[in-house]
Amino acid sequence: MSERRKCNNILLDTALRDFYAAADDMHLDEGLISMLSYPERRLDVSVPVEMEDGSVRVFHGHRVQHSTALGPSKGGIRYALDVSGQECEGLAMLMTWKCSLAGIPYGGGKGGICCDPTSMTRKEKERMSRTFGARIAPIIGRWSDVPAPDMYTGGQEMVWIMDTICKMLGHFEPAMLTGKPVDYWGARGRTEATGRGAATCGLELMKKKGLDPEKMRVSVHGFGNVGSYTAKILRDAGCTIVAISDTTGTYYNPKGINIDKAFEYAEVEPDKRGRKLTGFEKEGCEKLGVDEALFVDCDFLFPCAVQAVINQDTANKVKAKYILEGANSPTTPEGEEILNDAGVIVVPDFLANAGGVIGSYFEWAQNLQGFSWTEEEYNKRLVDLMTDNFCKVWEYSQEHNKTMRRSAYIAAIKRVADILALRGVYL
Ligand code: NAD
Repeated sequence: MSERRKCNNILLDTALRDFYAAADDMHLDEGLISMLSYPERRLDVSVPVEMEDGSVRVFHGHRVQHSTALGPSKGGIRYALDVSGQECEGLAMLMTWKCSLAGIPYGGGKGGICCDPTSMTRKEKERMSRTFGARIAPIIGRWSDVPAPDMYTGGQEMVWIMDTICKMLGHFEPAMLTGKPVDYWGARGRTEATGRGAATCGLELMKKKGLDPEKMRVSVHGFGNVGSYTAKILRDAGCTIVAISDTTGTYYNPKGINIDKAFEYAEVEPDKRGRKLTGFEKEGCEKLGVDEALFVDCDFLFPCAVQAVINQDTANKVKAKYILEGANSPTTPEGEEILNDAGVIVVPDFLANAGGVIGSYFEWAQNLQGFSWTEEEYNKRLVDLMTDNFCKVWEYSQEHNKTMRRSAYIAAIKRVADILALRGVYL
């Protein structure tokens, strides 16, 4: 057996353990296992920023390309205090499986800056984004590595980064990143895409299990870009959203949350980050602890906030029978074992939240063509692709009596392995 990589970062550790378990299950060649355990490239950069008080702070940024076997690497850029090189490695690896499973022509990438964006001014964030863009510019490009927004970044950050790199290049290059504002080479439908994809998987799962959406009670942990649109689309499909949450707490109403009002509180458009659900209990909800949305009485749970929240200490408190991972890596392997033993069906992140990268692919394709699609066309293609992917994984899992996560891994790894067999080890 090849040497198995171990690490202290919980996200990378989870990604590696899930990968090894699936690779062993499918008897993947040991050389390939070793190759895919490491990113092809990791760039660590310093990001000096002149702060409003005149002082200079140096932030640490990263861009990781896990695999370019299938095409240019693709993945978001996040600003958060727990961002590290290893966390980006784990997230980039997940992106490889996500793009592979979705059948789109991308490898996996990820990046970010370790910072607290909520305590920074707009000017400080602009300087930080532009310097970071300049630092990672040598490895970014429409045919090499195509970033996108992630936690605490949105269209504004993408514009700052793209504008900086375009100035360095001396020409315009809109396909170098996605998640741009609609009026500036963005795509209509992209803002809602990840939530639409997660909701589509949830509704497909209800169909497979013969469940009526109008009788389903749903809890959504995290009311950011992913969680808010997941909740809205499921509400529109007839589900009762019994809980939503953000860093201010969980807001619970067994009769149903008023999602339109929640949007008014949270202003979840990507470029208006910072406002929260503060005070939302006034809208007829009970206010509970931040993570209680994971444990309230419901049928379907969508963890859409941060990683590792469903773990060995919390998994047995989850009451939902179905979990769809809107966030990346919200369940640890220990947590999933507890859920599997309890008969809970878990739809894994790189299937459930693939709407974002599929939507990014549509934006990139439009940019390359210099031609924009209608929102209807974008949404239809997104829902069709998500439905096909979900059904493919569901059928494999039923036929082979494997979990959805293991089935998704096997399909994703197989596509990468097949292409690597064609291309050979030298990449
Ligand atoms: P976001 O910043 O818009 O929203 C995050 C939400 O989680 C906010 O409501 C925030 O208050 C809450 N939150 C933050 N820290 C928390 C904590 N410690 N405990 C509980 N809640 C917390 O981010 P997003 O874009 O919605 O991304 C959420 C997750 O989905 C991340 O894991 C991200 O990688 C993943 N994801 C996002 C996209 C996308 O297109 N935005 C695509 C795929 C996966």
